[in-house]
Amino acid sequence: MSERKVRVRFAPSPTGPLHMGGVRTALYNYLFAKKHGGEFILRIEDTDQTRFVKGAEDYIIESLKWCHILPDEGQGFGGNYGPYRQSERMSIYRKYADQLVESGNAYYAFDTAEDLDRMREMAKQAGTANWQYNHVTRNSMKNSLTLSQQEVDERLERNEPYVIRIKLPRNEEVKFHDIIRGWVSVNTNNMDDKVLFKSDGMPTYHLANIVDDRLMDISHVIRGEEWLPSAPLHVLLYRYLGWEDIRPEFAHLPLLLKPDGNGKLSKRDGDRLGFPVFPLQWRNPESGEIFSGYREQGYFAEAFVNMLAFLGWNPGTDQEIFTMQELIDAFSLERVNKAGAKYDHDKTRWFNQQYLRAQTDEQLGLLFQSELDVNGIEVSQEYATEVAKVMKERAYFVKDMLEEGRYFFEAPTTYDENTVNKKWNAEARQHVEKLKQHFEAMQFFDAEALEQTFKAYLEENSLGFGKVGPGFRLAVTGLGMGPSMFEVCSILGKQETVARMETALEKLPA
Ligand code: GLU
Repeated sequence: MSERKVRVRFAPSPTGPLHMGGVRTALYNYLFAKKHGGEFILRIEDTDQTRFVKGAEDYIIESLKWCHILPDEGQGFGGNYGPYRQSERMSIYRKYADQLVESGNAYYAFDTAEDLDRMREMAKQAGTANWQYNHVTRNSMKNSLTLSQQEVDERLERNEPYVIRIKLPRNEEVKFHDIIRGWVSVNTNNMDDKVLFKSDGMPTYHLANIVDDRLMDISHVIRGEEWLPSAPLHVLLYRYLGWEDIRPEFAHLPLLLKPDGNGKLSKRDGDRLGFPVFPLQWRNPESGEIFSGYREQGYFAEAFVNMLAFLGWNPGTDQEIFTMQELIDAFSLERVNKAGAKYDHDKTRWFNQQYLRAQTDEQLGLLFQSELDVNGIEVSQEYATEVAKVMKERAYFVKDMLEEGRYFFEAPTTYDENTVNKKWNAEARQHVEKLKQHFEAMQFFDAEALEQTFKAYLEENSLGFGKVGPGFRLAVTGLGMGPSMFEVCSILGKQETVARMETALEKLPA
């Protein structure tokens, strides 16, 4: 690594909600910056006004905040290199486009949309599927390379619409090093003369991106693989603008793949595959359609981030649970894979479960109480914590503890059919009756005392647990499965436990 101060940027376009792949790009940038004592910058690339989506920028910022991937500077965070929204930097770009024209590395092109369509159509008929504006075809188009200087001047004077295109050299190998992919080499014969400046007075992504990375003194460009094909063009732009020596280093991250490995996990996948592709819930402002988010589904931000870190990177050890600081310490771009990373939803749930289990009882109790609150259930903090303590081993999410533990807050009104059919009979009924009598006689109703009473009952009658346990659980909770019944009953208390046993004896078939 050179001496240069590390400054990296996450540069999303506000064209919709941030995809989880975008969050991963932000995360890797962040980890890299923090690891090297550098700065992480958020730049909003909104030069393409036709694709602007209202609310997208706020969504991006909120997502980063939720994930604790906090920019040191950037849109919404301040800093000395602003503005950080490209639409507010419009006055900056023109001069670089002009500079490229003057140095002979770019040219004016006056071709209308119809001209271009006609060329594409002709090429198609001649058997060329992808017509490109390039070093060959540009010679038969209307541009400052084919028109006389006088005509060009006249057209400019008449304010005829034009774009500025890069003038790629013929048959030149553009070679650059990518930290993740190694040496990459592309021949300019396989590239096209991309538009740098549009007729609406706006730069395109390519020009704005290069200019801003330079002016913001970006040292490393860490971005998705989909931008790899653009990198040779960017390398040339740095060269033509005289910035070759201070050009950022490149690192193109592997794609995020669908769980079956078949293709890129895309925004369009929405909830179609049974899991969210967005960090936060998103409501399409036009259609009103709602797309689910990890936050709203009850994921811990830390678990989501931990999972994302592993989509394309690994520490080279067995450790899987990492705090943000541990990720920062362990992260390196050299350990990022080239191959696409398959998203694994079970693994994501597993990560959440690990984070849930790692909460202290008090933390979990508080989280659980807010979940109860949202569901209109009012209990003391102490009670919420007690329930959380016994439910947490079985839960993936805080909400699971309520879904699977409703009986802590209301007596069962129905009884699990399967358990009734399989386990409820005259004998089970008799045991519940007897147990109830034993319970009524108990002085201390804690888990330990309950266990003693229960075990003594089994012993006296030479019974196995299976003869008594399921009917007892069914009577008190209405379910066939759950945590230790001694814990459950001690939380419910003697009165409630006994009352439920009585109700079950009345309600359940003899
Ligand atoms: N605005 C581009 C995007 O939306 C950024 C690409 C880059 O990082 O250079 O992904």
